[in-house]
Amino acid sequence: MKIKEEFSFESKSCCGGKTESADMVEKNTLCPVCGEEGKLVKNITVKHMVIDKVKEHVGDINYYLCMNEVCSVVYYAQESDNRFDKKDVKEPIWFKNDADPKYVCYCNKVTEEQIIDSVVNKGANNMKDIIVLTGAMKNGKCETNNPLGKCCSPIIQEAIKKGLEIKENPMQV
Ligand SMILES: [Zn+2]
Repeated sequence: MKIKEEFSFESKSCCGGKTESADMVEKNTLCPVCGEEGKLVKNITVKHMVIDKVKEHVGDINYYLCMNEVCSVVYYAQESDNRFDKKDVKEPIWFKNDADPKYVCYCNKVTEEQIIDSVVNKGANNMKDIIVLTGAMKNGKCETNNPLGKCCSPIIQEAIKKGLEIKENPMQV
C-alpha cells in the first residue's frame, strides 16, 4: 500500500505540531470487508465526519479508516459490525477511487486539482506557494475536518510532487 508511507514523514503541522502517541500509530486492524489494514481514527473525528442520520450509531470508541481506494467502507470498529460507508460521511474521502471533489485540505476545501494547477500553471513550487495561492492549511482544524483527523500537510506535499512531475513531463499526461 503506497498511501501508508505518505503519512509517515515528518512535516510542519497545521494543527499545532502535536505528535501522536505511539499507541495511536501502531494499533492497526483489518477492514471487515476488504481485509486491508486501516488507520486508527479518533472518536471525535468520526463523530464530525458522519452525516446526521447515522450519528447516533457512532459509539464512544475509536474507529479505523479503511485505506483501500476501491473499498466502500470508510470507518469501522474493531470488534463489531459497527461501520460507516462512503454514503455515511459528509465529504468524499480523498483517496477513494471515486472521490469527487478530491479534497486535500478539508478545512479550506482545497482540492488536489487546485494544487496541481497552482504548480503547473501558476508557478508554485513548494508548500509556502501553495498556502499563498490556495489558502490551504489556514486555520486548520484537521482533527475534526480531515477524515483521518490528522494534519493534511503530507497530502498537500504529495499533490505538489504530482504537480511538479506533470510539469517536468507534460507529455506523459
Ligand atoms: Zn475496506
